[in-house]
Amino acid sequence: MRLLVCGGAGYIGSHMCKLLAEHGHEVAVVDNLSTGHAAAVRWGELHVGDIGDAAFLDRVFDDFRPEGVLHFAAKSIVGESVTDPAIYYLNNFSSSLNLFERVRRIPECPLIFSSTAAIFGVPRSDLINEAHPKYPINAYGRSKLAVEQVLQDYWTAYAMPSMSFRYFNAAGADPAGNIGEAHHPETHLIPRVFDSILGRSCAMKIFGDDYETPDGTCVRDFVHVNDLCNAHLLGLEFLKVRRGALAFNLGNGTGFSVRDVLKAAEEITGVAVPHEFTDRRPGDPSRLVADSSLARESLGWTARYSELPDIMQTAWAWHRDRKF
Ligand code: UDP
Repeated sequence: MRLLVCGGAGYIGSHMCKLLAEHGHEVAVVDNLSTGHAAAVRWGELHVGDIGDAAFLDRVFDDFRPEGVLHFAAKSIVGESVTDPAIYYLNNFSSSLNLFERVRRIPECPLIFSSTAAIFGVPRSDLINEAHPKYPINAYGRSKLAVEQVLQDYWTAYAMPSMSFRYFNAAGADPAGNIGEAHHPETHLIPRVFDSILGRSCAMKIFGDDYETPDGTCVRDFVHVNDLCNAHLLGLEFLKVRRGALAFNLGNGTGFSVRDVLKAAEEITGVAVPHEFTDRRPGDPSRLVADSSLARESLGWTARYSELPDIMQTAWAWHRDRKF
């Protein structure tokens, strides 16, 4: 298929492009390079521009004539969404709407949207399935949930088929080491752990050790970036036979604590992680773990990387010799 990857210069989008190319798809990337890296775009032509720019999108769509669209382009820092929600409603909501307006002019063009566990808000159960109540507690989660709702309406009204994937904690990197997670500034746990070990930052801060979890630190469901991308491949196939505005939760189904992450990093590198404990970070639920049985049953998806050290090993290989 000819597939347009919006946000293809970013962390998950760039891994997606590689996988799509390996599976024989023709890829083009749209990215405004606000957080992505041109160097990460190696499997398709890069069109630098914003999905909020209708004239730009028209040019790209007319030129590439996509048969499917994968939409990763978004801002994703929870804290920033609290202090500056406008960025999130403009980038994640308004620009997505602009993209969908262009996509719906192509009859039956499937669209896959990167959503997030943040749409669920404070967890009410140990494992979070698709039926879990959705009361996001920050503008990031609200902007993503609003987009999911638009996709429901666009299916009902315009028969635009779509799939939303709610990622839990994306982690790891391409095992070949060419691409990986590279946010500036970096706010995520695993990259910060390795930056701290490599002396690229000062001692990292651990946000809270007084949670009601087995070791007092937050518990997260780390899922390998390539597993997330595999779900998209399966999703594209599934949308050929079962159309709708579908949504799936994607995680390992296993919780690992922040202390587990530190311990795994020390075992992988042989270096103690310089760290200090500090206050809780506002908006952090104590535990976020996915129930992905629907994705397993419907798409045949399973996370091939189920062990934290295996996921982190791929992240370490990337961070040690980072290219960008
Ligand atoms: N975390 C931390 N120190 C950091 C970054 C993150 O203690 O420098 C904790 C954070 O409070 C959360 C977990 O690590 O409990 C995962 O945070 P991250 O930002 O990686 O992902 P999120 O769960 O917010 O999507």
